[in-house]
Amino acid sequence: MPGPYRWRKRVEGHFCRWTMPREAILDLLTRTSQHLTAKEIYASLLQLYPGIGLTTVYRTLDLLEKSGLIKKFNFGRGENRYEFASENKPHHHHLICTKCGQIIDYSDFANEELELVKKTAKHLAEKYKFIVHDHNIEFYGLCQQCQKRQ
Ligand SMILES: [Zn+2]
Ligand SMILES: [Zn+2]
Ligand SMILES: [Zn+2]
Repeated sequence: MPGPYRWRKRVEGHFCRWTMPREAILDLLTRTSQHLTAKEIYASLLQLYPGIGLTTVYRTLDLLEKSGLIKKFNFGRGENRYEFASENKPHHHHLICTKCGQIIDYSDFANEELELVKKTAKHLAEKYKFIVHDHNIEFYGLCQQCQKRQ
């Protein structure tokens, strides 16, 4: 293999190592409606990119979250879960089944909820001098399937 070509290959390899995980993770999260853990993301990327490491996945998720491209949640089951965050995606809240772990996105009552959230945020700002930037609403219970199984 001639010299320059080998050099180019090496740079490409280096380049891919840093930008590939970002692209791959974003691509995966835009194509799924699920809320995935780092390990689930790692497992599904591994098929396409055998060289990827779990540490890289964690680090990339951290970066993507800080830049606002994805959202991190902890639904009370230990591991953090991630989902794609976009202005095009309707603002939504979560229903979490404590039995099967199913996570349902809903945005049906967004306007009413947002009104209450804004009012609460205003009161909090007055009482605690706290500026609210974001909120997260989660309801825990049993999904329809789990109710039937009881
Ligand atoms: Zn909300
Ligand atoms: Zn369930
Ligand atoms: Zn969601």
